[in-house]
Amino acid sequence: MNKAVFLDRDGVLNELIFNPATKEFESPHAPEDLHIIDGILPPLRRLAEAGFGLFLVSNQPSYAKGKTTLENIREIHRRLDAFLKVNGVVFCEYYYCYHHPKGVTPGYSGPCPCRKPAPFFLLQAQREHGLDLSRSWMVGDQDSDVLCGRNAGCRTVVIVNERSAAKRGKVPPEFTVGSLADAVDKIIEIKKGNTPHDG
Ligand SMILES: [Mg+2]
Ligand SMILES: [Zn+2]
Repeated sequence: MNKAVFLDRDGVLNELIFNPATKEFESPHAPEDLHIIDGILPPLRRLAEAGFGLFLVSNQPSYAKGKTTLENIREIHRRLDAFLKVNGVVFCEYYYCYHHPKGVTPGYSGPCPCRKPAPFFLLQAQREHGLDLSRSWMVGDQDSDVLCGRNAGCRTVVIVNERSAAKRGKVPPEFTVGSLADAVDKIIEIKKGNTPHDG
């Protein structure tokens, strides 16, 4: 395996949740707010079968911002991981940035190297998994995902999600699609167009 698909989490694998306090759609802050988006399993399986390593790359600043507990964030992750595993979808790595530059929680606030759009985790994956980033993809729903992919030299695709519309539109991706299934169609179609040794 030398190519990967890096997947954002919120708005790609699970639904964004309306927060009445901020009147914005945000990441789930409680385990019961984790709602997996319908239909993500078949496209994830297709990527794995096509030889792409799956990596999750997610900013989770809600603990840094004082909106939830670290235990809640970890439990949400455990539930997602359990759901994927029981359905036979294995990710190579889950990468989370828990920091925020304007956070209020000591130890998690201020600048950090790993928050998207920094390519920190993609470069770590390249080193540790021997990836060719030019044949790898970043799939997300925000401009920060597109920039992260670009900053790592990856190809980029955005899934349009009306709940994240305000955080998207200034940084055009290579492709814009309506669902993870459509994103995977595009990625696999382009892979098939590669020369045979590219397999
Ligand atoms: Mg997102
Ligand atoms: Zn970070």
